[in-house]
Amino acid sequence: MSEKIYIGVAWPYADGPLHLGHIAGAYLPPDIFARYHRTKGDEVLMVSGSDQHGTPITIKAEQEGKKPGEIAAEYHQQFLDSWRRLGISFDLFTSTGTANHTEVSQDIFLTLYNKGYIYKSVMLQPLCPRCRRFLPDRYVEGICPYCGSPGARGDQCDDCGKPLSPVELIQPRCRLCGTAPEFKDSEHFFLKLSAFRDRLLDWVKQQTHWRQNVLNFTVRYLEDGLKDRAITRDIDWGIPVPLPGFDGKCLYVWFEAVIGYLSAAKEWARSTGDRERWRSFWQGEVKGYYFVGKDNIPFHTIIWPAMLMGYGDLNLPYDVPANEFLTIEGRRLSTSRNWAVWLPDYLSRFDPDPLRYLLSINMPETGDTDFSWREFVRRNNDELVATYGNLVHRVLSFVYRNFDGCVPEPDELDGRSLALLAKAGETLSTMDGLLYRCHFKEAMRSAMSLAQETNRYLEEKSPWKVIKRDRPAAATALYVAISVISCLRTALYPFLPFSSIRLHEFLGFKGSIEDLGWQLKSPPPGQRLPEPRPLFSKLDDGVVGEESGRLGQAHSTGG
Ligand SMILES: [Zn+2]
Ligand SMILES: [Zn+2]
Repeated sequence: MSEKIYIGVAWPYADGPLHLGHIAGAYLPPDIFARYHRTKGDEVLMVSGSDQHGTPITIKAEQEGKKPGEIAAEYHQQFLDSWRRLGISFDLFTSTGTANHTEVSQDIFLTLYNKGYIYKSVMLQPLCPRCRRFLPDRYVEGICPYCGSPGARGDQCDDCGKPLSPVELIQPRCRLCGTAPEFKDSEHFFLKLSAFRDRLLDWVKQQTHWRQNVLNFTVRYLEDGLKDRAITRDIDWGIPVPLPGFDGKCLYVWFEAVIGYLSAAKEWARSTGDRERWRSFWQGEVKGYYFVGKDNIPFHTIIWPAMLMGYGDLNLPYDVPANEFLTIEGRRLSTSRNWAVWLPDYLSRFDPDPLRYLLSINMPETGDTDFSWREFVRRNNDELVATYGNLVHRVLSFVYRNFDGCVPEPDELDGRSLALLAKAGETLSTMDGLLYRCHFKEAMRSAMSLAQETNRYLEEKSPWKVIKRDRPAAATALYVAISVISCLRTALYPFLPFSSIRLHEFLGFKGSIEDLGWQLKSPPPGQRLPEPRPLFSKLDDGVVGEESGRLGQAHSTGG
């Protein structure tokens, strides 16, 4: 029976390019998940958009002599280009800059306000006397009051993951000039998170299917108590507070950006011509998954669910399969020190599938993992090319030359051949179970183990030699190999869509892989095969030195 799957993906902040940490953490996993469900015949809605408001964009705009909207639009275009080239298949990638998003955000604000979940109060806002401006939370740095980390920002501590407000920091200073900020009274709106603490805790404790790290973090957080948080700021670049007398104040980005999950679904519905269609992904029998990085967990397991509980009538998240961090060459990724691999840079020099392969087989699902260029080259050459690509190319080009470019007619299948075909079927059903539970790394490993098994089978059967004395035996082995390759085409499609689509064509199929379904679908004997070309290319060892030499060098955004 087909299911409805809503996939919300973290909204990237439009003030800089994407890097591999973003991709491994939040963007590749939902794409794998969406492609898998679509192939199964499930109805999927995958949405996200660029987060365009907030002070960091206004500061960047000032530095570059542009308008905030221009900066946001530039990066929005770059994101769209990156998704296309990396194959991240959003049903809609919009932005927080739309009239629709403003309307939905203001409606949620007013509904929560009218229900008493948002109230007015005075808060201390950091003001830098030297820069003469109110500072955005993340432009105040200091010591974390919870864990003592010296590099905590005013919005969050990266070391212990706690969301913070600037006034909580010990020895706060302005990130722009280093001066200690003054704190000035300002009237703002607060979200009454404390009212949801018990309901949230009851709800979270029932989510036993969540990843252990996500569940533990959330329970610990709630057990420590939940403070009300200010959700407006003194800034004019953003969504205005929809009440009279609050000119110059806007909804704070973390409150407003999560509403994008709902506003994007509404925008998508409008684009289909059925304005009410968003409801089928937000109400009733539908599972909502939110793919985010580790640092985003509390916003998706606590704050957004609290807002939804307060608003009413909308589904809470079913799962938040947050990933851990990706380190680069053994060191923590740092954008300010340019210790990062930028996605536009990567895509300007390499194909998308080798990166998708490495980040899948080495995904930081349950603990941090490391990206190194040496491993990138090794896995590309020894696994993607040697285990999978060569298997496909060797079989298809041999059949193309020796069987008039058609799938050979098999003789009777022996036990060994039947066992391999059975393993192919089992691999699809094992992967089905793993992908359904968001265990991407393990799913990828089962597919690769099927490819290895097929190589062993061909070594035993050796059709390249046998063809001279026993043509039917060679035809049978090649037919079996083509059937398993056809299975790998489907199994690897969620992970490696570009090469899978090419393989689909090399196998003589028309239409899309998704239309064939998540099942063993072999090309029938006699099906015409076009001339194959290699799916992947070997990388030179020189790539390692060349690429790692770019790390930590003068910043380049690729463009
Ligand atoms: Zn901390
Ligand atoms: Zn300053």
